[in-house]
Amino acid sequence: MAFEQVRSQVDFPKLEGEILELWERIGAFEKSVERRPEDNPFVFYEGPPTANGRPGFHHALARAFKDLIPRYKTMRGYRVERKGGWDCHGLPVELQVEKELGLSGKNDVEKYGVEEFNRLCRESVFRYVEDWREMSARLGFWVDMDNAYWTLNNTYIESVWWALKNLYERDLLYEGYKVTAHCPRDQTSLSSAEVAMGYETVTDPSVYVKLPLVDDENTSLLIWTTTPWTLISNTAVAANPDVEYATVEAGGAGGERLILARELMEKALGEGDHKVLEIVKGRDLEGKKYRRPFDYVPVEDSGNLFTVVLGDYVTTTEGTGLVHTAPAYGEDDARTGRRYGLPTLHPVKPDGTFDERIGPFVGVFVKEADPGLVEELREKGLLFRAEEYEHSYPHCWRCGTPLLYYAKKAWYARTTAVLDELLRENENINWVPEHVKWGRFGDWLRNNVDWALGPLPRTLLGHPPPHLALRKRPHDCNRRHRGAEGALLYRCPRRSAPAVC
Ligand SMILES: [Zn+2]
Repeated sequence: MAFEQVRSQVDFPKLEGEILELWERIGAFEKSVERRPEDNPFVFYEGPPTANGRPGFHHALARAFKDLIPRYKTMRGYRVERKGGWDCHGLPVELQVEKELGLSGKNDVEKYGVEEFNRLCRESVFRYVEDWREMSARLGFWVDMDNAYWTLNNTYIESVWWALKNLYERDLLYEGYKVTAHCPRDQTSLSSAEVAMGYETVTDPSVYVKLPLVDDENTSLLIWTTTPWTLISNTAVAANPDVEYATVEAGGAGGERLILARELMEKALGEGDHKVLEIVKGRDLEGKKYRRPFDYVPVEDSGNLFTVVLGDYVTTTEGTGLVHTAPAYGEDDARTGRRYGLPTLHPVKPDGTFDERIGPFVGVFVKEADPGLVEELREKGLLFRAEEYEHSYPHCWRCGTPLLYYAKKAWYARTTAVLDELLRENENINWVPEHVKWGRFGDWLRNNVDWALGPLPRTLLGHPPPHLALRKRPHDCNRRHRGAEGALLYRCPRRSAPAVC
């Protein structure tokens, strides 16, 4: 048997080409799967890339890892089916097409035509599939791309619906509020990337407000806010469990009795000989009941309503260390509200004005109601101090209107109900590097909040959601709904539940 002479000059790319050709000729990948027993599987989940852009180096790196593990397992005798996939949905796809068409925002797209826009989005996700196939093949990445799944196919969407149905049947699906950055002029939510585009320095009111304790009228929680209009929707006051809070007589013995974070005393109360009566940890304040500042919005007083609640997000960098909480108008507030079962008082219409419940402020834009509301606090004897505050505040990058953090109806998966199970499963995962298990990923799991399924900031090309509200509110649904398939969508079988439309 004669061996080829070993050359001192090696052309690696050529060598690789020869190997790839050999693999192709003998069907090495297919055989590597077929020859392993079906009853000895190793399941590999391919997180699909989006093919609306050319593959980059970081994709090559990810694909190298995605090849390494299945290949190793194959060599150990496992049958590793490797199904390729393509992610076809989401805002990045839409933004790319918007840019190409010179459009900006949902209104523009609707004027242009949703059906045609969706057609172009669909087209764009197929655009670079060939580049991806070529790159993957050249990399030696074995994956079945002939039978790839596409997230825009109805068969795939059906599986999303199947998952929703399962959540529904296990009572893990509920409708609640999600707080989004909302432009009251365009009446649409903005994504965090869009919010970041429109910060401006503005002057807002900065008010310190006293909330007297129910069982001790002479002592008040001292809170601070730059959005007095949200006080109408106050349902709780949040304290940091580990921060020290002082009960003080402001200005010296016999002064107003206030509770606030010890280290913010000077800053909030001003210079003075404040007399500290007592110091407790935030956790000891939990459950203390106070009188709400405004009672425009009727609500049945029960449970944790108008009490001190706990939140790790409460800091002592400014304010009083006691955070006024209005679940309709802040993300932390909404999360805290869900945890403590607080109601969402939401008297603001999508155009940013107060609804008919708010007496003298009906129809007034919330930020313009601030001075009047501060005056009312003063008359009630609840105002400790009012001044102006210059800070950076997000504005709509499209129209310049100040954004409101504003609750919208959304569907949630109650992931917090299975938290113990999630943590238990995490223990069984072989993390590399290991610290991720209890560090980044473990932390994320432990701080788990219910997963909001929508509304997305604005998605025209997405999974059309089944109409879950139908069970509760039978309606005459004859219209066609917009979604992934452009204009052609699903008709709702009247009053069947929980139906799809
Ligand atoms: Zn706007």
